[in-house]
Amino acid sequence: MSTLLEIEDLRVDFQRGSLAELFSGRERSRLRAVNGVSLSVERGETLGLVGESGCGKSTLARAVLRLVEPSGGRVRFDGADVLAMNAAELFKLRRRMQMVFQDPYGSLNPRLTVGAALGEVFRVHELCPPDQVGERVGRLMRDVGLPPELVDRRPAALSGGQCQRVGIARALAVGPDLVIADEAVSALDVSIQAQILNLFASLQKRMSLTLVFISHDLGVVRYLCRKIAVMYLGRLVEIGPTEEVFADPKHPYTRALIAAMPRMDPEGSLSEQGLLGEPPSPTDVPGGCAFHPRCALAMPACRQDPAPAHRALGRRDVWCRLYDDAG
Ligand code: SF4
Repeated sequence: MSTLLEIEDLRVDFQRGSLAELFSGRERSRLRAVNGVSLSVERGETLGLVGESGCGKSTLARAVLRLVEPSGGRVRFDGADVLAMNAAELFKLRRRMQMVFQDPYGSLNPRLTVGAALGEVFRVHELCPPDQVGERVGRLMRDVGLPPELVDRRPAALSGGQCQRVGIARALAVGPDLVIADEAVSALDVSIQAQILNLFASLQKRMSLTLVFISHDLGVVRYLCRKIAVMYLGRLVEIGPTEEVFADPKHPYTRALIAAMPRMDPEGSLSEQGLLGEPPSPTDVPGGCAFHPRCALAMPACRQDPAPAHRALGRRDVWCRLYDDAG
């Protein structure tokens, strides 16, 4: 496998503050939503990006596509420097890197029928001669499991699952190299979630898609992704092969997330080792290891010293002082 996407020390800052601060001329305070993230995605790989809401996973995805501007770091896509691209180059890049969003209704134009919404993609990107658009739309609808009779329906006449299939079809129409799905099943009923996950799994296999799947639901990521990256308050804390991480999570935050997953036991009980408390506000990130106020294994150095450095443990990367002797 060769590397398709490389992210190095990526940072995204947002300015924050009241209107009074804005007009006072004082420097406004900064919220670092993504803080020094480095990772790579190989061609054909499925990477799950997990963490509680507000941990920066969606901002990271948007920064890769430059839908928000990074404050520093590097993004390389198929060898090209994304942060140095001009508007025309970005337009081409976004054809190769497609996003599927959480809100299946909100991401579609309510005035366009399914056929018109999909046909528009073929026309805007000049993907085929105009007289072939209808046939390409029909093929695409079949690929994502949409019955042909829906071609003249508008989003309001579709179910949430059908709308999400249209969103996925729009993303696939351009033949992307990479699809980033941002909480793409979170807004759907559980039974529909399973159908859409099965669709992603079969499309990924059939088309050898490279997929980055962002979710707060670890079960979803375990089902779909071979590699998993865990984020906490803007930083990566652990990344590695999904089954290894689930079998033996190294970072205390990963352990707590996995322990907090609902178990399929007869009692239907939740594990007692779940997470302590709520995550701090991203506008007030604790010093040292940002996880220390919630970590049962925190040591004095976790509070006082800078954030833990990266450690390689076999095929795993972990950012935690417990492994400082691991080399
Ligand atoms: Fe816990 Fe310390 Fe590891 Fe942070 S660095 S996760 S506080 S043990």
